[in-house]
Amino acid sequence: MAEQPLKRVLILLALGVAVTSFIQNFTRKAAAAGAPDDPRIARVLQILRDEVRETTEEQVRITEIPAPPFQESVRAAYMKKLLSAAGLRVEMDETGNVIGELPGTSPDVIMLTAHMDTVFPANTDVRVKREGGRLLAPGISDNGTGLAALVALAKAFHEAKIKTNKTILFVADVGEEGEGNLRGMRALAEAYKKRLKYVLALDGSATEYVTTAALASRRVEITITGPGGHSWSDFGTPNPVHALGRGIAKFVTVRVPEAPRTSFNVGEIEGGTSVNSIPASAQMKVDLRSESETQLSALEGHLRDAVKAGIDDEMTAARERGMAGSGNLLNLKINVLGVRPAGELPENSPLLAALLAADDRLGNRSRQERSSTDANIPLSMGIPAISLGAGGRSGGAHTLEEWYDPSGRELGLHRVALTVLTLAGLEQ
Ligand SMILES: [Zn+2]
Repeated sequence: MAEQPLKRVLILLALGVAVTSFIQNFTRKAAAAGAPDDPRIARVLQILRDEVRETTEEQVRITEIPAPPFQESVRAAYMKKLLSAAGLRVEMDETGNVIGELPGTSPDVIMLTAHMDTVFPANTDVRVKREGGRLLAPGISDNGTGLAALVALAKAFHEAKIKTNKTILFVADVGEEGEGNLRGMRALAEAYKKRLKYVLALDGSATEYVTTAALASRRVEITITGPGGHSWSDFGTPNPVHALGRGIAKFVTVRVPEAPRTSFNVGEIEGGTSVNSIPASAQMKVDLRSESETQLSALEGHLRDAVKAGIDDEMTAARERGMAGSGNLLNLKINVLGVRPAGELPENSPLLAALLAADDRLGNRSRQERSSTDANIPLSMGIPAISLGAGGRSGGAHTLEEWYDPSGRELGLHRVALTVLTLAGLEQ
């Protein structure tokens, strides 16, 4: 008798699992299709395929307009022209973002973005060289690929007369790299937060992974200043470079956990004027990252302590040499250059379902990654967001040897188009 209810429970349980997986499969397929037979979707995919060459040529033109950090305005003017020609209402905001609107029937907003800035300074040669099927230039893929895709998608949606429920914003944004500190996306998220349902940031080419979690990071600039002097006659005077060196030696012995993964890097050092002068200042920039905000805060605390201890040791040495008199002091200035918050896309997000459905339909497989991108900002605010590549192959990002190969680019374009159309919902 005791067996009967157990069996019944097991049967019900098995049935439950079967039904749940049927529903999951069903909703995933339904999401994949949107309205599967709507000829406008097939039309969008066809246009993207037909325009692949033109998209690549546009990528070359965009890449050859320099866009160093904080100097994106010339490229922005060009992006404004391209998005207007694609039939969008285009505006620029105060931060320098270019925003093209495809109005929907509801006020809800899906934002498709591509950052305009590069990591390269103003005097970098950004002319594109061609070698076989490859294009070579700094910034050609990061983020020439994303920007060219943004334009190609806007044009294809326009030509296919796409009408959607949600409003789609095609945005070329500023300040994604380094000290730009995501200022473009911060302004966009703030301006649209009440209506913003999904954000897709197009960045680079990769289709084998998608960024669904935001890596928290902090960038800190540390400056130590002192009286300076002559290397011989003023020997013993507290030396900012020595103090900084002592601080770095203390800091880099810190143990960071493997999980949550945490990292640090002293990336730049500057200071001094000549080999026989005691420098008046020394400076370094440090990059701290972690999967956990708590670990990140602890690491920053450790950095501050280590630098202060380095200064103390140098002052002790100066005292021992009888050179720590009045005015012979070291000063410390800590400047936080950038803070990128953490966040995660929930596993059950319709955004993830739409992307996986597009992958299914296109026979693509992608893994989920954590990274530091424009998606950090919406994710940290609880707004579903991903960062993904726009197709093709590339390498050498952030180096002068960066390259891009457009082979297979249409897969990336189709993947974005299907995901956005599923989320936006087609209207008659
Ligand atoms: Zn990028």
